[in-house]
Amino acid sequence: MSILSGLSKIFKSESERLMKKLNPVVEEILNLEKELQNLSDSELKNKSLDLKQKILNEIQIAENNLQLKKPNHKVHNSDAKINFQNQSLILRQEILNLNLPLAFALVREAANRSLGMKHYAVQLVGGIILHRGQIAEMRTGEGKTLVATLPAYLNALTGQGVHIVTVNDYLSKRDAVWMGKIYDMLGLTVGILNHQSSFLYDREAIISEQEKVKDDKEVKEEGAFKIENEFLKKVSRREAYQADIVYGTNNEFGFDYLRDNLVYSTEQLVQREHIFAIVDEVDSILIDESRTPLIISNESAESDELYKRFAKFAQKLIEDEDYSKDEKQKAISLKAAGIEKAEQEFNLPNFYAAENVKLIHHLETAVRAKALFLAEKSYVVKDIPQEHGSARKEVIIVDEFTGRMQPGRRWSDGLHQAIEAKENVPIQKESKTIASITFQNYFRFYKKLAGMSGTAKTSEEEFYKVYGLPVTTIPCHQINQRNDQSDAIFQTEKGKLQALTKKIKELNVKGQPVLIGTISIQKNEMVSKYLERENIPHNILNAKNHEREGEIIAMAGKKSAVTIATNMAGRGVDIKLGGPNASQKEREEVNNLGGLCVIGTERHEARRIDNQLRGRSGRQGDNGVTQFYVSLEDDLMRIFGSEGIKSMMHKFGLPEDMPIESKIVSRALEGAQEKIESFYFDARKHTLQYDDVLNHQRKSIYERRRKILISQSEDLQNIFTEILQEIYLIKPDLENFVSEKISEYSPEIFFQVLKNIYLQIIDQYFMAHLEHMDYIRSSVNLRAYGQRDPLVEYKKEGLITYKAMLEKIKLDFYDFILKIDLVMQNLQTQKIMQASHLKNQIKNQSTNSATKSLTNNSNNSSENFANNLENKESPSQNNLLRRTEESKKIGRNDPCPCQSGKKVKKCSCLEFEFLRK
Ligand code: ADP
Ligand code: MG
Repeated sequence: MSILSGLSKIFKSESERLMKKLNPVVEEILNLEKELQNLSDSELKNKSLDLKQKILNEIQIAENNLQLKKPNHKVHNSDAKINFQNQSLILRQEILNLNLPLAFALVREAANRSLGMKHYAVQLVGGIILHRGQIAEMRTGEGKTLVATLPAYLNALTGQGVHIVTVNDYLSKRDAVWMGKIYDMLGLTVGILNHQSSFLYDREAIISEQEKVKDDKEVKEEGAFKIENEFLKKVSRREAYQADIVYGTNNEFGFDYLRDNLVYSTEQLVQREHIFAIVDEVDSILIDESRTPLIISNESAESDELYKRFAKFAQKLIEDEDYSKDEKQKAISLKAAGIEKAEQEFNLPNFYAAENVKLIHHLETAVRAKALFLAEKSYVVKDIPQEHGSARKEVIIVDEFTGRMQPGRRWSDGLHQAIEAKENVPIQKESKTIASITFQNYFRFYKKLAGMSGTAKTSEEEFYKVYGLPVTTIPCHQINQRNDQSDAIFQTEKGKLQALTKKIKELNVKGQPVLIGTISIQKNEMVSKYLERENIPHNILNAKNHEREGEIIAMAGKKSAVTIATNMAGRGVDIKLGGPNASQKEREEVNNLGGLCVIGTERHEARRIDNQLRGRSGRQGDNGVTQFYVSLEDDLMRIFGSEGIKSMMHKFGLPEDMPIESKIVSRALEGAQEKIESFYFDARKHTLQYDDVLNHQRKSIYERRRKILISQSEDLQNIFTEILQEIYLIKPDLENFVSEKISEYSPEIFFQVLKNIYLQIIDQYFMAHLEHMDYIRSSVNLRAYGQRDPLVEYKKEGLITYKAMLEKIKLDFYDFILKIDLVMQNLQTQKIMQASHLKNQIKNQSTNSATKSLTNNSNNSSENFANNLENKESPSQNNLLRRTEESKKIGRNDPCPCQSGKKVKKCSCLEFEFLRK
């Protein structure tokens, strides 16, 4: 105990020291208030625009000075060049630091005028920490949405977009519309990225009735209930990214990045550079969600029959007799009896023979689906309405942390299909990765990254090691009145629920609102049954009504409200005492009753999530109580508790619903949590270590691709001259041929066509490479048995394959140049290839595992490509090039493939100029 109180003293003095250190800056900002107050609205805006101009000038001057020292541009990728970039970044940061006080004061004044909220001193400190590229830990309800406006505004003054990342579409819309007033008043623009739509904040936008109805529906589905849609103007994704400040979810930013690396014309690129991102609820995004990489994939043909047969067969197997399961590792292993049954069933003498790799995989997946993935817990089966009015059943993943449904996400490795077969719902086609990235690697692109959350400190190590982000705790604005009570421990789950019901009844009679947190939706319903028996009216959040998540959570502070939800439900939604629109009197009444009482029904796997739940109560100096009710039968104790604790279960001679206070049990619980936290940390590190190998290759390929994509005329010729030089070394005959063709077709057309060919060759090979890497990844794991480190093997083989791919690209390119006459004749096909683009066929996906099953990997793609150009039926499995088959020829009066919206003959794009000749 003495250590703990000692620690809290250190923390206290640490945040005191921080406040003291930053006090001069805070004072400076506060002192500017008087001066700014006297300005009219338009004078305020001018002041802001002047500041922007001043900053731009200062950057210009600083960079010119630097330019004088800049290395000559012919030096490629040298340290000098990187150093130049770093220096220019440091200079920008220094310029911003000097202008910080006025910028923050302007934001504070605009916030006061437009929203009636003035940033508190602690919020200014939070803003400074974010601007420094760190994580600000500020408790729930401290007003982080408002804090983010400070660094967002300041950094956007450089003209390079700032990204604010939120956990869901609803919050990005809410925050942008809410905070949009401030930026708008200061003359900056705000963009919003939602799943299928994007907007600009626009004070004057009027949404048509028709769209409003649609949006309202959208809003409902997103769990929102109060977004002022009239301030939003629908725009293209690209326009939204041009805004000074862009609000969107991690998924949208990540997928846009991947999609940008699959386009065939510059007009289709949507993102600008990755300069500065502020990640809200940073632990949720950079830790919880980062176990699952983003994947863009398309369908491959795999028969449904196998899944169905194996699902049926798995049902016949008996746990512990035919197979055993390991809940910790989410793994199963087949026993001899089970394998024998399989051999009989499928009439195979030796199931584990090498040629049965695919069948083994099917079998194991079917058994995993049966033994470890339970309906209503890991997933739900839901009717999804289809366009023509009918409905189709789908298996939807339930996020284990939030209890929220994850429509659109699918488990990889055929697991999702196996579960579909088990549930007897239509089996969706297996998909093939064509681009992927982990959140860790996406967010590391940003030159500066910052984050905020109420719960970051317990994951400090991971933030620092993975992202280089230090965590700073910012003191609260009001003294915290929350009373966190120690755990009530019960021997059995039943006893716990009985005592819980009794407690809720007491509180409900008194009128004090209660929020009951559970670890899964399944548990929500269990608690609900107990309350029903006692006739306690309550609201329940489950996977089926999650659309109303925000609404249900926002109401949790009303007098007498009883709400059951998962621990993380409605993260980011404000719980006001008395309800969202309560009067001062109503608010005080609830406050006097003791404020919001939060009861956790189980400790979560991560301490962070428990703290998140506690944080629902006692916002901004409100009263509040929190306590966890746990039992020795909880999963956490059952799976991770030590044997010693379990045997204690018998030793207590107390009634079931009588709580015990046990330091040993409390400590065991925390020990278990720490164990699991580090287990998951390792798992994420593992995912990342593997992705790092690929990341290097991806960066290099995508950089090369982008450079070629955006280059025109002379630049383009220079790039290709370099590439061709390399090929001449191995194929000297090519040089004459190329000169001939250049004079035959003109350099402009010749290189434009090379560009189109080259981009497609890169994509072809890189996608095949991705698959191959998946394959290597699963095979190195098998090799781990041979005492070799799988990661080292993966790196080694990955590099060999990558180099081989680069060679193949060269040779393939050579083949195509020789066939250039044919290509020219088939230009029509080509154009359509670009026009039909990947868009319609690609599905976004995020899967739960980075490994994939053994899949066929086509390395004869050069042949396929040629076949396609000749418009023959391709024998390959590759859908990418087959897409052209659906397209038709383009005429002068058709819309231009570059998607400018103009007719081909009227369009001015360079990309498709040859169509006009
Ligand atoms: P957090 O994200 O930190 O949990 P929110 O941004 O949702 O907090 O804000 C919580 C509440 O605090 C909101 O209702 C907001 O209006 C209020 N609030 C925040 N900052 C201020 C301020 N400076 N003055 C008045 N109200 C504020
Ligand atoms: Mg928030």
